[in-house]
Amino acid sequence: VIAIRNLHKQYGALEVLKGVDITARRGDVVALIGSSGSGKSTLLRCANLLEDSQQGDILFKGEPVIWKGRAMSRRPGDAKQVLRIRTNLSMVFQQFNLWSHLTILENVMEAPVTVLARDPDEVEKAARRYLDKVGIGDKCDNYPAQLSGGQQQRAAIARALCMEPEAILFDEPTSALDPELEQEVVKVIKDLAAEGRTMLIVTHDMKLARDVSKHVVFLHQGLIEEEGPPETLFGNPKSERLQGFLQSTT
Ligand code: ATP
Ligand code: MG
Repeated sequence: VIAIRNLHKQYGALEVLKGVDITARRGDVVALIGSSGSGKSTLLRCANLLEDSQQGDILFKGEPVIWKGRAMSRRPGDAKQVLRIRTNLSMVFQQFNLWSHLTILENVMEAPVTVLARDPDEVEKAARRYLDKVGIGDKCDNYPAQLSGGQQQRAAIARALCMEPEAILFDEPTSALDPELEQEVVKVIKDLAAEGRTMLIVTHDMKLARDVSKHVVFLHQGLIEEEGPPETLFGNPKSERLQGFLQSTT
């Protein structure tokens, strides 16, 4: 579904990504791990065009979105491309980013109705279905502040699902949560993996990476240091940096 090739990203003189390749085919769950500052969030933000990049290609369903570091959407007539990508690669953030002045149901309905101009009645049905699915169907009329962190994050996942995306990008979805609330969110992510959803998950939770992913990528200072199936990467890490990283996280 998404292929990132030789991606480079700089903030001024700071080189954050120095040529990263990641491919997620339909149904793949890819976990992205690495120390703080290694460029994990930047990679997700580039992938769904929240950031521009300097070099490299991003292909969505085989079509270039970024080509040789240039957004194809800047071409006249292609202005809908950015919207198409953001719709199809929904993000779930560490801090949930729910609208505090909207109810949970309104939060989930907001983008499909206002951005995608879908029929509100249909969207409401879908939103209620997704909220049921993540286990907070009874919270539709509550505001985010009235929910626990785990419930807010599940609402954020329902919101991502309601965009009917091709893939979901998670940036540390459980980092802001207490361990017990974390498990509620982990369960939802596992259910989505079992359904065959395509997901790219940045996480500090090695157990989550090990349990749900098919492929793990270890990023170090803007480059892929090592990657492979979770059994190999966690069971038999080759690079010393990865060995050190895994020791520091357990
Ligand atoms: P963490 O695990 O702490 O979330 P990360 O791997 O997600 O880290 P990034 O957020 O991608 O790391 O940041 C990578 C580097 O880019 C860091 O050195 C950071 O300071 C820098 N950086 C990120 N965003 C910006 C920005 N908007 N402007 C300048 N530098 C930035
Ligand atoms: Mg980050």
